[in-house]
Amino acid sequence: MQVLKTTEEIQDYTSKLRLNSSIIGFIPTMGALHAGHISLIRASKRENDLTICSVFVNPTQFNETADFQKYPRQVEADLKKLEDAGCDLAFVPSVKDIYPVPDTTNYDLGLVATVIEGAHRPGHFNGVASVVKRLLELVHPHNAYFGLKDYQQYLVIQKLANEYNLDVNIIGCPILREESGLAMSSRNQLLSERGKEIAGNLHKSLTLVKNAADQYPPAELEKIGMAYLESKEGIEPEYFVVVNKDTLNPASNCNSNQLIALLAARVEGVRLIDNMFLS
Ligand code: AMP
Repeated sequence: MQVLKTTEEIQDYTSKLRLNSSIIGFIPTMGALHAGHISLIRASKRENDLTICSVFVNPTQFNETADFQKYPRQVEADLKKLEDAGCDLAFVPSVKDIYPVPDTTNYDLGLVATVIEGAHRPGHFNGVASVVKRLLELVHPHNAYFGLKDYQQYLVIQKLANEYNLDVNIIGCPILREESGLAMSSRNQLLSERGKEIAGNLHKSLTLVKNAADQYPPAELEKIGMAYLESKEGIEPEYFVVVNKDTLNPASNCNSNQLIALLAARVEGVRLIDNMFLS
């Protein structure tokens, strides 16, 4: 597996690949890789001639300095996992490479970027849009893979690609979970074993609501989900919403097959998100 660090190297490399008509798949990550990330590498390997993965902890998408500082970083282990997964190229840029000058663009991506996570984490999706646009322009892949674990992020990136004509297919991939149901996340490393057990209740709240989806309206489902989280010691819920899965609009007139439940909660001070389609 090749490892490239500078923007010049990656641009040079992928433009040559494109001249050879190679189809390029790309997976942007912040590292501390787990089986969820590797599932995206596998999807890309099935569908492309060459798979590129970036590892870059993007400072502009963290709205809390402490969160950025404690985010797990383990590049050497990540490179080994990528090599074992058959990734062809790892792109590991520095902050200076990605932001030679600060990106001051105010990305207007509409409702999908301003509600829910957008409202709870001011500036977060602007930082995500900034780094993803930069990476997609540098790598210039045909297909880019994103996990539905970060469902709202996936919608925001689709909108970004459309608004800025980024000439790439944005592909959403299913959530990988631990046996307990806990969605795999780099942040899970920050939890104790007990914390991981407690965090398994996030998935339980979603399945509870999914099973009740045909009997109750969305507002009632939100209360059921929230009450479940609040009843569990060690969970500090931030939100539990049931909305239209395409628009993220409030969902009063929707059937369950148009609905998604999304939640955020803290366990041992670690902020976790999860979601589930209700059909
Ligand atoms: P991150 O390193 O957390 O920025 O994630 C990089 C990519 O991996 C994003 O598209 C995430 O949505 C995706 N991802 C993270 N966790 C999972 C998971 N448990 N299952 C599937 N995809 C995931």
